[in-house]
Amino acid sequence: MEKIRYERPIIKKLNTGSINKFGTQTKNEVVAHLEGVGVKELIQQYGSPLFVISEKQIRRNYQHATRVFKTRYPKVQFAWSYKTNYLNAVCKVFHQEGSWAEVVSGFEYEKALGNGVPGNKIIFNGPDKTDEQLITAARNNSLIHIDHFDELYSLIKLSEELQLKPRVAIRVNMDTGIYPQWDRFGFNFENGQAWNAITRILNDENLNLVGLHCHVGTFMLDTSAYAVAATKLCELAWNIKEKHNKTIQYLDLGGGFPSTNTLKGSYLPGIDTVPTIDQFADVITSVILGFGFKQEELPLLILETGRALIDDAGYLLGTVLANKRLADGRRSTILDFGVNSLFTSFWYEHKVSPAQEGGQYTEETVLYGPLCMNIDIIRDNITLPLLQKGDHLVVHKVGAYNMTQWMQFITLRPNIVLLDQEGHPHLIRKAETREYIETVEQIPAHLIKNPLT
Ligand SMILES: *Cc1c(COP(=O)(O)O)cnc(C)c1O
Repeated sequence: MEKIRYERPIIKKLNTGSINKFGTQTKNEVVAHLEGVGVKELIQQYGSPLFVISEKQIRRNYQHATRVFKTRYPKVQFAWSYKTNYLNAVCKVFHQEGSWAEVVSGFEYEKALGNGVPGNKIIFNGPDKTDEQLITAARNNSLIHIDHFDELYSLIKLSEELQLKPRVAIRVNMDTGIYPQWDRFGFNFENGQAWNAITRILNDENLNLVGLHCHVGTFMLDTSAYAVAATKLCELAWNIKEKHNKTIQYLDLGGGFPSTNTLKGSYLPGIDTVPTIDQFADVITSVILGFGFKQEELPLLILETGRALIDDAGYLLGTVLANKRLADGRRSTILDFGVNSLFTSFWYEHKVSPAQEGGQYTEETVLYGPLCMNIDIIRDNITLPLLQKGDHLVVHKVGAYNMTQWMQFITLRPNIVLLDQEGHPHLIRKAETREYIETVEQIPAHLIKNPLT
């Protein structure tokens, strides 16, 4: 006969049905299935921890965002921000939906080409572009977004020497009322740097200024920043038309829309507080439509939304390794994944659900990862049923930035599975092995002999 599990009795105030001081209920709904697929079965087949990405949710997010913008503005194009999640399978879903690629390094640029994106649908951003990469991008007719004067001078020189006619834009940084201001990327609007760069480009016969770009920040909680940004880009485009009789083909408002995750220290959950895509779209499109451009000269509106399109399509499944009492009496639970896999736990209070029915008691718990490092904390304080060793749990909304910013620290990166639209799992990135990690290591000859034999 199986021994019945002992559960320590605790005294706890019951507040069933009422709400806590934040106006929300402390619910612990069990999440045993993701789109009809059992969490337990997924872990049995692919191991724990395991990232799971929902193709259906990506497509839903993408179609929703494009619809929201296209119903408000005639010409809209999204470009998938590779650094947010550059698993090829994920990028391909976005490209199938019609998204261009937005890349910030030579590595990402090559990935986009490898994913079949035509050169003229790749936007090349960022401060780090080598001469070689600039030449390739120019030859492929990609959109090169110039970040600083040194890059501009390189491009002028290369274009002259090699007879290139690159299509370029400049990245503009500006005061949008959000501080600290992101002024390290691009040319500043207020101090005249941006206009200076524009004039320099327009006076060069090889460079073709086609667009203006900005990316004002990430996880922006205030739509008004986009109103300011759109206004300032429109002003530049307007002045270019007035003074140089050149029509700017597109305005690229970058990314930065928040997902519905809850930021650490927030008073209310993200789902109740972050503005919706509709609100951002209202602000951006009404500025551009109202600015006074002639109908036929309305610029294409490009958006490089990353986080908001992928975060809620990603889950991390994991397993409880152990429970222990901390010196001050608090309960702590050790999981088989840490901040190495879940980088975003540094700034989000991720929602975590048990994957099986638990006891009726809940208790405030610290969720630790398995790393031998004091900052390896998944949640500082979360109310959960008493999870046991071997129980599974589901972390929600982990699709953005984790699978690119993760660290190979102490343990190996886990499998990643894509659930297709019918709910069939496909392995899209294999768990790393020691052999894989060591393929890039080399032992100098004098260290080959085993020292301890
Ligand atoms: C990171 C980045 C994005 C995507 O930002 P999100 O906050 O994920 O929407 C877009 N454009 C540029 C230039 C970026 O660096």
